[in-house]
Amino acid sequence: MERTFIAIKPDGVQRGLISEIVSRFERKGFKLVGIKVVVPSKDFAQKHYHVLMERPFFNGLALVLLFAMVWEGEGVIRYGRKLIGATDPQKSEPGTIRGDLAVVVGRNIIHGSDGPETAKDEINLWFKPQELV
Ligand code: ATP
Ligand code: MG
Repeated sequence: MERTFIAIKPDGVQRGLISEIVSRFERKGFKLVGIKVVVPSKDFAQKHYHVLMERPFFNGLALVLLFAMVWEGEGVIRYGRKLIGATDPQKSEPGTIRGDLAVVVGRNIIHGSDGPETAKDEINLWFKPQELV
């Protein structure tokens, strides 16, 4: 079954949005198969975002504390991105997580894998196989 990596970023954790975000994925019908709180080093966080290395904001991408999850279900990679909304919360539709709960791109509260390859890589980067249900 299809799986994706979803992480609540430090700003989302700090603002107390964990249960709100988890419940949106749960209510849709996706299944939570992995969950943990991680404090990644800056190196590790940049490894996660390695495709953005050339971008001017790369150095600011420090994931200090992160609520990491793996969700499972049919179409969960694509639909998870729909639940999350556009990267820039100013452009996210109302009804999406970023559209309803965030204002600026540097504090967009949640990450979701953007395709099947990325999902596989990110799940392997953040979770050991035995940590998943
Ligand atoms: P994510 O990978 O976090 O789910 P995304 O796939 O919607 O977000 P990416 O292009 O992968 O968007 O960018 C990764 C993250 O980098 C964004 O979520 C945001 O936190 C940050 N970012 C992207 N563009 C900008 C920008 N122009 N200025 C500041 N930060 C940015
Ligand atoms: Mg991305």
